[in-house]
Amino acid sequence: MLLKALENIESGKFKKKDIVDLLIQDDPSELYRNADRIRKKFVGDEVHLREIIEISNYCKQHCLYCGLQAQNTKLKRYRMKPEEVMERIRWSVPLGYKTVVLQSGEDNAWTDDIVCGMVRDIRKMDFAVTLSFGEKSYETYKKYREAGADRYLLKHETSDTELYKFLDPGMSFKNRIGCQNDLKELGFQVGSGIMIGLPGQAVDSIADDIMLFHKMDYDMIGISPFIPHKDTEIGNNSSGDHELVRKAVAITRIILKDVHLPVTTAFSTLRDREGKLQMLASGANVIMPNITPVEYRKMYEIYPDKDSSDVEPFEYRKQLTELLTEAGRTISTSYGHRIKIKADI
Ligand code: SAH
Repeated sequence: MLLKALENIESGKFKKKDIVDLLIQDDPSELYRNADRIRKKFVGDEVHLREIIEISNYCKQHCLYCGLQAQNTKLKRYRMKPEEVMERIRWSVPLGYKTVVLQSGEDNAWTDDIVCGMVRDIRKMDFAVTLSFGEKSYETYKKYREAGADRYLLKHETSDTELYKFLDPGMSFKNRIGCQNDLKELGFQVGSGIMIGLPGQAVDSIADDIMLFHKMDYDMIGISPFIPHKDTEIGNNSSGDHELVRKAVAITRIILKDVHLPVTTAFSTLRDREGKLQMLASGANVIMPNITPVEYRKMYEIYPDKDSSDVEPFEYRKQLTELLTEAGRTISTSYGHRIKIKADI
């Protein structure tokens, strides 16, 4: 029966029930094998490495899961100066990464002029640019795009609208999707994603998330476990199940085929070598090394122990090359834009 469900998701003729069945199965080995085959067929053995720099942990939002939430007074806040950001990126050039991801809490100090100035300067250094600054107006996104930003990451977090309302007070799922549609219209490659293991989140709603990935045809999708942060309202809940995350990544690969799927940060510290190899073997094709200066890195505490890898970026790069070689994968030398391949099956 599950072979039928696998066949259905591959052919595109699937129902939500197929996804639910695949998510709750006890032996996902066939699912992982198929995801790996589809990954190889549609995006090849190349792994895209995108460097991420977390430029400010100030945030005006109150997301109940996130350690950066405005009401967390225990967190020491920082905001890098634009010159400092540019200096760090210039320093990172020899690492050979082809994309810079600028990420921040929702911090109004990053005016459109400052962001656009940084985008233009980064483009001059021959990088593709991804931004992840949260919800902005159409006009602001338009300016970012005109300055040369290629991609934007804005996860929809959960498609359970009631849960969304509870977890993101003052925000709405509808507006989130509205922002993603604005970004698409402006020609950005759009990244979405979810957390798995949120309190009150049913498997059924994770299947809805994957249906939405398909409907919206996102270019990148980050699927990560929820990790409780003690200084938040839901800090006493348990963490998301890694196996369920892996299943969701594999199903998403089979359905969306040529999409970019990162090994999410929770798996990406070098310490979790095994986790990273597993994700790469079941659909993932992107890794996002963190180049945030060490003095700030600990303060970008979305969840605890986020980037416990205290490995220095150049050493990290070396170890990553070894790991990918061991996994039989190569490192992409292109910008790593999504190349849409029409499914021939
Ligand atoms: N402000 C930006 C980006 C910063 S947060 C934005 O709104 O998009 C980046 C991502 O971290 C969020 O999209 C969320 O999916 C993830 N995140 C936040 N808290 C988390 C937690 N406790 N466990 C796992 N992921 C978390």
